[in-house]
Amino acid sequence: MSDFIQRFHFSESPVRGELVQLSASVDAAFERHQYPDAVARLLGEAMAATVLLASTLKFEGSLILQARGDGPLETLMVECNHRREVRAIAQPGEAWQEDMANWPLEQLFGNGQLAITIDPEGGQRYQGIVPLQGTRLESCLEHYFMQSEQLPTRIWLAASEEGAAGLLLQVLPGHDQGSDADIWPRLQQLTATVKADELLELPATELLYRLYNEELVELHEAQAVCFRCTCSRERTEQVLVTLGENELRGIIAEHGAIEISCQFCGQEYAFDPVDVEQMIRGGAGHSVKMH
Ligand SMILES: [Zn+2]
Repeated sequence: MSDFIQRFHFSESPVRGELVQLSASVDAAFERHQYPDAVARLLGEAMAATVLLASTLKFEGSLILQARGDGPLETLMVECNHRREVRAIAQPGEAWQEDMANWPLEQLFGNGQLAITIDPEGGQRYQGIVPLQGTRLESCLEHYFMQSEQLPTRIWLAASEEGAAGLLLQVLPGHDQGSDADIWPRLQQLTATVKADELLELPATELLYRLYNEELVELHEAQAVCFRCTCSRERTEQVLVTLGENELRGIIAEHGAIEISCQFCGQEYAFDPVDVEQMIRGGAGHSVKMH
């Protein structure tokens, strides 16, 4: 299996883990973009992190990770759903320069924030926001877990030119730590010895054996992860309608049609004047009351 996420848990203890390794989905997400190396690495790590976070959801829907600031790296966004379909995009601003590659996260984004949006299918969206502080994405995400779920959670991420990987450890809700009070600090220490190339390249069984050979680990079945964009003509229309009637007619008057290409996957959507009029009438129907 190429891209996967795999759950494991420590027998007789209230701690679980998730391991993710991505390569084809990272390639697919980067295919249409010329990201500077440092941006690609960070986006790869964010993809691994988002798949890990989405794996903690207990319902069908999507999880969207979005970082935004006033620094040289303006935005970064990754979305993953319960089918483990992931899409991602980053946007370095005009101020981006190669020598920023080793900047800590908080300098790359400047004054910024990290938003995690959870979008259950047919349910209410909710969002948690934490400041983009610290040198690495991991610490922001751990902060998010402390704030939103109050579950002790640790995350390790790595990315290379070939792919990205991550490991999440979490104390399960509703458990005290039982007789083995030392388990959580011990597992964190053991996991902290992981090297980036081990995380990226070792098969799951080998990696877990290397880290936890004195613990009893149960490995669940691996689940495939893939790149897939969730854009559609209908969703594109919904976004266009929010521009309003005047703006839409203005674009048609100037350009003759509206052409939009999806930033995530490159899919093109074109709307001619008839489409746009229909869109306006359809959109108005929702907000204008008929007397
Ligand atoms: Zn798309």
